[in-house]
Amino acid sequence: MEKGSFLSPFKAIKYLFQKPRTFLFPFQRRDASKRYRGFHLNDWEKCTGCGNCADICPNQAITMVKISEIEPKPGEKNERPQIDYGRCCFCGLCVDICPPGSLRLSRDYLHIDHATDTFVYLPKDEKTDKEHFFSEGEYSIFKANLSHRKKNFEGFVSDLEYTLFEPQRVPMKEVPPEERKLSFIEQVLGYDKEEAKKEAERCLECKLCEEACPAHLKISDYIKAIYEGKEEESLRKIFEDNPIPSICGRICMAHCEKACSLGRRGEPLAIRWLKRYTADSIKDYKKALEEKPAPPTGKKVAVIGAGPSGLSVAYFLRLKGHSVVVFDSLGGGGGMMRIGPPLYRLPIEAIDKDVNYIASLGVEFRFNTTVGKDVMFEDILKKYDAVYLGIGTTISRSTKVKHSQKCIPALLFLRENKIGEGFKVGKDIVVIGGGNVAMDVARTALRLQHMQYPGEKVVTKTVSLEDWDIMPAREDEIEDAKKEGVQFNPGWGPKEVVLDDKGNIKGLLCMKVKSVFDEKGRFAPTFYEDKEMFLEADMIIEAIGQAPDFSFIPEKLFTRLEFTERRKVKVDGNGMTSIPKVFAGGDIVNINLDAVTAIADAKVAAEGIHKFLTQKA
Ligand code: SF4
Ligand code: SF4
Repeated sequence: MEKGSFLSPFKAIKYLFQKPRTFLFPFQRRDASKRYRGFHLNDWEKCTGCGNCADICPNQAITMVKISEIEPKPGEKNERPQIDYGRCCFCGLCVDICPPGSLRLSRDYLHIDHATDTFVYLPKDEKTDKEHFFSEGEYSIFKANLSHRKKNFEGFVSDLEYTLFEPQRVPMKEVPPEERKLSFIEQVLGYDKEEAKKEAERCLECKLCEEACPAHLKISDYIKAIYEGKEEESLRKIFEDNPIPSICGRICMAHCEKACSLGRRGEPLAIRWLKRYTADSIKDYKKALEEKPAPPTGKKVAVIGAGPSGLSVAYFLRLKGHSVVVFDSLGGGGGMMRIGPPLYRLPIEAIDKDVNYIASLGVEFRFNTTVGKDVMFEDILKKYDAVYLGIGTTISRSTKVKHSQKCIPALLFLRENKIGEGFKVGKDIVVIGGGNVAMDVARTALRLQHMQYPGEKVVTKTVSLEDWDIMPAREDEIEDAKKEGVQFNPGWGPKEVVLDDKGNIKGLLCMKVKSVFDEKGRFAPTFYEDKEMFLEADMIIEAIGQAPDFSFIPEKLFTRLEFTERRKVKVDGNGMTSIPKVFAGGDIVNINLDAVTAIADAKVAAEGIHKFLTQKA
């Protein structure tokens, strides 16, 4: 072994005169790199409390903590992530999975404190925590701590290109506008197995959607089943809360999708289309579900109206062993679904698939039977142990402007075209209204024009009080209508239907809208009387809303039916009205006029009716 020189220790002396490799902390500092992974920052206003960060953390360093000051709302839980820095390895997976991108890592890495519990921390950022973030001048390294942080000191942030979730939807195949506007062919073609699986794979299972769904469907479970190729299991999960998936899979308002965390920076999961996939992919519900009603209870329930709420209440009560009879004046089930959403959105076969299954469980349907005419309400009340009113809103409202009696009511127009004789339309149609029914009417009218006047110049235009920013129709409906060629006149209200000297419609005189709602948010439109516009037309359809028809209830009973301030039927927590043993749900009870809210009511009422019938026994 070679011996070292006795001079070696003295060689080190030379380093005393060289520039040190380390630096004198805290008097000298070096900033962390731009993408440094230091302590977390979380924008509490953007964070939805979805918990994906906690789920993905490999070290279980994140706990979701309830924050009492935050009001939970659809699409947002009142929870925020808390980080245990004794466990965190700063991998950044939580940042990459965070759907709204609220969670980031800062370049702060110093936490000096003697108390170990200070290592467990609920991060905010300078936007949501003004107190603990300091600008360069105010910041002091001597106080460096998780709660004494630097402003504008962001490090690792998520990049949409490299996120751990897929922000884009699997595109849905659709018949192109130029082709579909020539007929009533169904517009949306549906996912195939592979597409459905790929779309289902996007789900983060955070369940924000389930809170937002009025009927609280077990969305993440049925989507997971699709991903696993278990369509029958998916259908069973859907039926636990919704017995009309073929209908809802096509026309649901999809409140869930508005809440889906993926929609914060990308496209929400196509929950509605996935439900439709499950419903369509199973040809025989009966075989897949293997449901059997409970033994007969001997109780009889009458359901008036075979719409979404009537069908659902009938299904749930039948499974509980009650005998259920559904009365409806139409020739088949679906209620408003049978006459409202046009064939290109909701074909009759899709409705009948759900209705036939419910009938197969032993629910008796009496179609073409108008209560109040073919069978009296009083007799139903006497004969049945409980009655459910799911009658919907079946009368079209009128603008009541001069000569409005010349206009066609929306529901009559839609009904005749979907299940009736059809309508001979004009070449120049005005549709009054800006809601979903108005879109259905306009798009139906346009199709009929193309079918009845092939190759000729035809025009369908809508006019609505609401401007673009507050138009009540679904955005995709508006977009589809535009693509097909429907013209829009938002922010105008009807003043008079103008007739020619033969009494035929010449057009609609409109006034510019000043405001639609008053300061309390109530519907109270005001106009600029001097700003007018004339829309030429040979046909005008009014689609400004619907009202219920209670004429089948005898006067004496009707006076006992209590209403809310908003003229909705008052029900208690069991869905019972002010008339004993009469329950109600759907559009006559709810402000939200949609199928899934009606199903939610039906679930409550079915439980209420069951309790009422069994407790009495
Ligand atoms: S993943 Fe993002 S949005 Fe969800 S709880 Fe965590 S920080 Fe909040
Ligand atoms: S559908 Fe969206 S909101 Fe629902 S569980 Fe999946 S990712 Fe979450």
